[in-house]
Amino acid sequence: MHSTLQLTVIGKVFNPNKGKVLSLNRDLDRYVECVRWYLSFKPTSRGKLHKDAYEKAKERFDLKTALIQSARDKAVEIYKSFEKVKGKDSEIHLRRCCMRFDERSFKFVKVGKGLTPYWLHLSLSGAYGRTAFPIVFGERKELIEEALDGEYSIKSIEMKKRKGEWYVHFNLSRGVGMPDTPDTVIGIDRGEKNFAVAVGIQKGSPNKPRKGMFWSGAEIKALKGKYHHIRRSLGRKKLPQEIKKIKGKLSRKTDQLLHKLANGIVAYASQFENPVIALEDLTHIRNQFRKKKNGKRLNRRMNSLPFRKLQDYIEYKALKEGIPVEYIDPKNTTKECHRCGTINNVGYHRNYWCPNCGLTYDRDLNASINIAQRITSSLGWGTRECPEQPNEVSVAKT
Ligand SMILES: [Zn+2]
Repeated sequence: MHSTLQLTVIGKVFNPNKGKVLSLNRDLDRYVECVRWYLSFKPTSRGKLHKDAYEKAKERFDLKTALIQSARDKAVEIYKSFEKVKGKDSEIHLRRCCMRFDERSFKFVKVGKGLTPYWLHLSLSGAYGRTAFPIVFGERKELIEEALDGEYSIKSIEMKKRKGEWYVHFNLSRGVGMPDTPDTVIGIDRGEKNFAVAVGIQKGSPNKPRKGMFWSGAEIKALKGKYHHIRRSLGRKKLPQEIKKIKGKLSRKTDQLLHKLANGIVAYASQFENPVIALEDLTHIRNQFRKKKNGKRLNRRMNSLPFRKLQDYIEYKALKEGIPVEYIDPKNTTKECHRCGTINNVGYHRNYWCPNCGLTYDRDLNASINIAQRITSSLGWGTRECPEQPNEVSVAKT
């Protein structure tokens, strides 16, 4: 099995000369016009849109062919996602979008001279060759270096204009080998009390959950509390700039802690043979929530703590190690008894108790076993039949 690891690195166009910026601005205007025009066809299929409009688009818009094609694909993407949300017959008013260049229309190189060694060459209209732009990087520069060394391929870039400045989003990807069938399923529950709880279920002994592990997330929660406190006192003194500074500082610190936690979870998974990580599908939670079916708890879970970010980090780090991540429907993962399958009301008790079979268990550990079992049952690893307590349980302070 193969999977693709994808990530984005953002660079900034650094001190470009005026003429070059003018041609970039001009192409952006034409590109947005072109996407708008394509959108007027209400396109749902790339092939059909190409047949209906491509030749006309080439006459109509003075852009390089690669850009006209990218505008076409972008229009289909925008229309499809828009249609999903708003329904078929609504009109789209596209205010702006970014310009995508594919492999044919850009070249990214490192040459060791001047203020920055990174140069992006773009095929723009009206120019014979490519136009070169100097690029600088902040975060994730090491990934760009890895891409230049061939560890990632840069399949496309997006040119984005924000407040008069130009930014480049590099879309990096690489193939990762994955085991065909897992031998262990790692269930991860995320919650407010324990930020994350993991448990491993192995193929040979599906009824013996292994090595439960708790991450309280105390430091992350403390930072969150600290921020609210400072924010309130600065808010009273009307110091928005200070708030911004503090916010940036604390979110960087939170990020560090989230990376550490995600590393811990992936290291936990790596100790097992051929693991797969099972997580609750949070978009699912959010969508369900939109239907107002879910209670306050899920709402809080969605909003108060950075679960989504943690998920992204886990997924990225796991893929890098060749560990697949699967998402499951979060319905009843907290309420279900992992031993007999009965759905019980749990309220706010920390301990889970099942009146049907008498199981008493840590609530979050019960949930993470349920999460893992969603996958193990689809793999046909036997039934519930009285799973035992995990043989070892440890707690990480992160
Ligand atoms: Zn039970």
